Amino acid sequence: PSKEHEMCARQVKNDVDELWYYIRDQFQKLKTEFHNSEKVEKIRKNLFQYYSVIVNDLKSLGEADAADAWRLKESKELGQLVQKVIHKLQNPKDCSTSRLLVCNLNKGCGFGCQVHHVVYCMIMSMGSNRTFVLNAKSWRYLNDGWGKFFIPPSTACDAVNYGEPPFWKGEEDTTRVIQLPIIDTLNPRPNYLPLSIPTQLSERLKRLHGDPFVWWVGQLMKYLMRPQPTFQMDIDDVAKDLGFDEGEVTVGVHIRRTDKVATEAAFHSLDEYMAHVDTYFDVLDTIAAYPKKRSIYLATDEPSVFQEVAQKYPNYKVIGNKDFSQSASLRSRYTEASLRAVILDVHFLSRCKYLVCTFSSQVCRMAYELMQTMHGDASKFFTSLDDIYYFGGQLGHSQLARLPHSPEEPNEISFRSGDRIGVAGNHWNGFSMGTKLGTPERGLYPSFKTLEVVSEADFPIFNEFKD
Ligand code: GDP
Repeated sequence: PSKEHEMCARQVKNDVDELWYYIRDQFQKLKTEFHNSEKVEKIRKNLFQYYSVIVNDLKSLGEADAADAWRLKESKELGQLVQKVIHKLQNPKDCSTSRLLVCNLNKGCGFGCQVHHVVYCMIMSMGSNRTFVLNAKSWRYLNDGWGKFFIPPSTACDAVNYGEPPFWKGEEDTTRVIQLPIIDTLNPRPNYLPLSIPTQLSERLKRLHGDPFVWWVGQLMKYLMRPQPTFQMDIDDVAKDLGFDEGEVTVGVHIRRTDKVATEAAFHSLDEYMAHVDTYFDVLDTIAAYPKKRSIYLATDEPSVFQEVAQKYPNYKVIGNKDFSQSASLRSRYTEASLRAVILDVHFLSRCKYLVCTFSSQVCRMAYELMQTMHGDASKFFTSLDDIYYFGGQLGHSQLARLPHSPEEPNEISFRSGDRIGVAGNHWNGFSMGTKLGTPERGLYPSFKTLEVVSEADFPIFNEFKD
């Protein structure tokens, strides 16, 4: 399939989803207005059937002519290319003469946040052509314990103690060994920071994937999280114990509570998550009744959710380990057991066919990123109850207006086609929140009136692979 065909097909899927978000929300309002009228509910149900059938038709269209097989192959080939380039950069002939970028694993936050910090370091190292060195000596989860689970990013260079090298001063800086501050305080800020993808790969990536940046991060994360052989055995054993079966359609549900609620994210009930899981299976069921029991993989830092789901959703097979959840509680969080638990939870979430979670949590964003490495294009395999996908500290996320918009409500913004919008979020009701770039105007607008813009930046390290 051509790039134009792929991009157009993905756009149709987006449009249909946006249409459904709008209908879903409007019918909720109609139900209230018409005092739970049966007629309103009947029409909503019928519309859901139309939606489901179209989603299934689009899926068949996407699979026709072995296009899905092509996508998987292309994702694998591109992935191998990226892994190869990283491997070469990470294994210089001589660590004492090569240009290095030291990244400290000492950010005072959770595992997902720390891994994203390390991914940012890797992006910087690839953009500036420096070997990336991970200093995990004072890791709050496990002192010097990165290598217990993962193969270190640069086996030879990681072993050297570089002390406190000077901080990054920019591209022109010729200092051989430098270190990086956290992304938020980095200055100057090169254009290859998130959400950019390498220009050298952009044609292929834009043809392949609905969110090329997520695919790109997934690849970097995959390299970083290459399991040690002993840990791989651990993973395999746990998969067996849990009865995790790749052949089954399992939806990953991540429920983030405890310290996150009311500080960085709102509370969402189990029922809210499960309503989306039901929708996912209902859509599948429209075409061919699913003979198997519905199944979820549950990961959460709130152990009581395990009882709740067993009580309320007996029709579901629940995979997951309550002990992982127990060790995720704030009191025992920064321990080796809790580290192993979150790594395993992220791992199994990423192997699910679909994710229902809050993208405000770095745990779920990680699972979503890693998931991309196992598919052709898994960019739509999620429902987030809150944020759209983002990378903490990103340069910006812009969209292009393809249709003009005149406000119907005072909290909406106006734009003309061709205007750029900095998007802040999707309300999953047909509307997104954003700022018209170059103006102070901020407000809601119908999501379908804008298109995503993929940012690109030069990564000379990929020059020899440019098509
Ligand atoms: P965020 O705070 O949700 O954005 O993600 P972080 O990864 O930065 O911090 C949350 C931390 O809480 C994780 O690193 C885990 O230690 C723990 N945690 C949160 N959710 C889960 C979960 O579903 N399973 C496990 N095992 N741990 C979790």
